[in-house]
This record gives sequence, C-alpha cells and structure tokens, in this order.
Amino acid sequence: MINTLDLGWGITQLDTAFQRPNMAACYIMQDAGEVAIIETGTKDTVPLIFACLQQLGLKPEQVKYIIPTHVHLDHAGGVGRLMQQLPNATLVVHEKGARHMIDPSKLQAGASAVYGEAEFNKTYGDLLPVAKERIISPLDNEQLTLGQRTLTFLDTPGHARHHFCVYDEVSQGFFSGDTFGLAYQELTNENGAFLMVTTTPVQFDPDALKNSIDKLMAMQPQRMFLTHYGVLENPQALAADLASQVDTLVAMAQQLAKDIAPSDSAYTAQLQRNFLSFFLNKLKVHGCQLTVDEQTAVINTDLLLNAQGLQVWMSQ
Ligand SMILES: [Zn+2]
Repeated sequence: MINTLDLGWGITQLDTAFQRPNMAACYIMQDAGEVAIIETGTKDTVPLIFACLQQLGLKPEQVKYIIPTHVHLDHAGGVGRLMQQLPNATLVVHEKGARHMIDPSKLQAGASAVYGEAEFNKTYGDLLPVAKERIISPLDNEQLTLGQRTLTFLDTPGHARHHFCVYDEVSQGFFSGDTFGLAYQELTNENGAFLMVTTTPVQFDPDALKNSIDKLMAMQPQRMFLTHYGVLENPQALAADLASQVDTLVAMAQQLAKDIAPSDSAYTAQLQRNFLSFFLNKLKVHGCQLTVDEQTAVINTDLLLNAQGLQVWMSQ
C-alpha cells in the first residue's frame, strides 16, 4: 500500500515510509508527459516510487529528473537505485553534493559512524554510485524545464552547504527540503501548522540559514512543499518565527556552554532536554491538544538532531 496525495498542479505527494508514517515525503511532478521526482527517501522508498508512477499511469522512461534537495540520506538515500532503474533520468543535485552521489563511500562511512553499522544497513543499505555523466548541478538561480514549466534552483546553505531549494512557477511553491523547517501534520490544528527549525549536523550555519530563509521569501512563494511534511500554505506568516527560532536555539546552546563544555557528552543530552521544554512550551501556546508524551514522540528525534547540530557548531 502506498500513501499518496494529489496536490494539484501536477504534483503528487508520496510518503517515503522513512521511520514512521508522515515523517518524510517525496514529490512526483508531471508536466506534458515529463516527470520529475523531488526527494527520493531511502532504498525502501524506491519500490513505493515505482508503485506511485504506475498508479499515475506513468512509465519509468518518462522520468527526466531526480532532484534531491540535499544529500542527507532521508532525501537522497534512494538516488543510486532509482538512477539504475530509470534509464532517461538525469540526477539534479547541488554541486557540493554531486561528488557524494558519484562516490557514496564517504557518505556511507559518515552515516555508519553516526547510526552504527547494523542500523545503517537496515535503514539505508548499500548506496549505489551514479555515473558522473548523468549528473547536472544547477547554479544559483539557474532554471530547468519540465514539460511546459520552469523550475528555478536557489542555492540555500544553512541546514547543509549542499542544499538547494526548487521554485515551481505553476504552484508558486518551493520544494524547500529542510531549509524552511519541519511541520509535522500531527501538530497542525485550528491555529495552523507548527513549524520547527532544523539544525542537523554537521554543516549547520545559523547566519547562512537565516539568509536562505530571506532568499526564499524574496520570491514571495504562496506555499512550501516540505519534505517533513507536506504542503505549508502562506509561509510568509511563519518566516519571521522560523528565523527567530534559529537565534533562540543558538542562544540556548551558548547559554548551556557556560555550565557544560560542548565536548562533554552531557552537553548534547541536556541541550535536547532544553529544546524539548522550549518547543513543548511553544506547542502549548499553539493550543496543541496532544498529550505531552505524544508531542514528545513527534518532535524528540529532531530535537536530538538539533542538539547534535548545535554541539558540532559550538565545537568549531
Ligand atoms: Zn531531512
């Protein structure tokens, strides 16, 4: 069973089945017979993507582009396998991420070190290399054509240096990867979406991230297609809060460093707890009706990643 949602504008949302339902999405875009797959999920997402193409009456040969917003493995883990099975596809990836798609050994070693060999193998498996000739890396503001529509690529460092966002003129929306934060649907209520910044290791850069948020807003998008998770309408209303979260998390990391050295393993654990109280408090203001345990279950994995990202940034 695949979990899909027709969003209109020729865009279908597909749950990648990464970790839990409603955790990570990918998007299938079609225009005049040409198809782009934006975000790939992991190896386990690949058969879901093929099932989705079939459900939409699309042939693998129609896929023109595979577009991971950055090379973190919940976004790009399925790239190698997909490219192998999609004969006409070109991989569109940030120039700073391309070498990791050509030779995924460093990506694989890095992720194995973080998650452990067993967990890495289970979740991500062997990453397959992509031939250099099948990769293009658009420059900042460069455009590609899919059918009748134009996709514009903006270089958006901050979450990672190898991150771009993709503006689609038809939907007037950005495929924002992790640059415009996370909004889990479980936390959406009558007050709207609950947007959280993501400061994942190892390249988090607060100033770059705030600049990238401004850069997205300058295009006056009507909506964001978040990888985590789904469509976010009226992003303009949430951008200032998102940018202020960057400052708040950095300030909390700096404050904690006065009591615990960032090199101390207790630092990251305490920072995660501090982030949890900050966001639980924000959720209370947001009027979230879930229990504290339920809220914690939705956000705590990301808060650990956020704490780890700040720990790395503080240690530089
Ligand atoms: Zn992600």
